[in-house]
Amino acid sequence: MATDTFFSKWHGLERSNITWYPTVDPAKCTGCGLCVVTCGEKRNVFGFDKAANTVVVLYPDHCMVGCNNCMVGCLWNAISFPDERIVRELAKTIAPEQIKKELDAKLTANPELRINE
Ligand code: SF4
Ligand code: SF4
Repeated sequence: MATDTFFSKWHGLERSNITWYPTVDPAKCTGCGLCVVTCGEKRNVFGFDKAANTVVVLYPDHCMVGCNNCMVGCLWNAISFPDERIVRELAKTIAPEQIKKELDAKLTANPELRINE
């Protein structure tokens, strides 16, 4: 699996220690492709097996922690995720200074998000 440094951390936590990514049941997948086009262009978690007409989770670590858009959109219930409570528990362990640092950087990069300053 390819590793991109952009995806190696989640708010300072090691992404490789976080088990948040989709699992596809090939017996249910119809190969419609909606999940492939739903997943963000930068992330591209899914590949598509043309011969088998099914999707493959190619880059699980590229999945946005807490996102489940592809599961919600799959009409065939072919995609599953871990219990979302693991994300809540992880979020409790993010250092407040880390969030503050990211927030400051975001508001600097996007001044239109600053309100009532
Ligand atoms: S949206 Fe569901 S059925 Fe369609 S390709 Fe993805 S996993 Fe398969
Ligand atoms: S949950 Fe979101 S980021 Fe993860 S594979 Fe699905 S669409 Fe992509």
